[in-house]
Amino acid sequence: MPRKPGRSEQPAGQQAHHERLLADRIDAVLPQLQCGRCGYPGCRPYAQAVAGATAALNLCAPGGAATAQQLRDIVGGSEEPTGELPISGPAQVAAIDERDCVGCIKCIEACPVDAIIGSRGQMHTVITEWCTGCGLCVQPCPTDCISMHPAGSDSLMARLSGGLANRPQAAALAEQLRQRHQAKKRRPPLRNPVREGELSAAELAAAAMRKARRRAGAKK
Ligand code: SF4
Ligand code: SF4
Ligand code: SF4
Repeated sequence: MPRKPGRSEQPAGQQAHHERLLADRIDAVLPQLQCGRCGYPGCRPYAQAVAGATAALNLCAPGGAATAQQLRDIVGGSEEPTGELPISGPAQVAAIDERDCVGCIKCIEACPVDAIIGSRGQMHTVITEWCTGCGLCVQPCPTDCISMHPAGSDSLMARLSGGLANRPQAAALAEQLRQRHQAKKRRPPLRNPVREGELSAAELAAAAMRKARRRAGAKK
């Protein structure tokens, strides 16, 4: 009787279908923070890499050992994780110093779970309830007015802590984060006032100088 073909011997279409189904199962147990700490631009791309056997099973630091074990259970016992689990670090949330926010919307574009609100040219605010502490909004801010702080008891990370991938509450929050991420990806790009010349380089530079002056004053 002919042997059932292995994954590498399957026709390309069949293998792609197999990997898609596997990626669905893997994605379903990932925390959905979309934080990129695994080295992939979100949970789904990491799930696809694991399904395609091109990524290690233990790269999701927020999910920790529990998630690595779940991935091992899904892909099969022969594929062992390699190396140490990355350290996740203490839970954090972003905060915007609204005095220096020029409303350029770069942080909104960078936030994978839509945890920042604000209008073009107006000050922006972090929705702590949905901030995963990924820090992806910090670097794009042209006036350096976003900083990371320890997460309080009302933060998303506090609600998720102590068993990210296992508890029903964490699973419900992960599903909401997935939906926020998908909704954001479906939305057409926002009009960016910097790109469109509504905020000049001079305005951004002035905001940066105000901040530097305040910092210098605070040190005296
Ligand atoms: S939650 Fe885990 S899998 Fe998702 S992007 Fe972050 S590190 Fe990657
Ligand atoms: S990137 Fe910085 S300046 Fe621009 S809207 Fe966000 S917080 Fe404000
Ligand atoms: S507000 Fe910043 S730190 Fe919080 S989830 Fe969005 S990008 Fe990440």
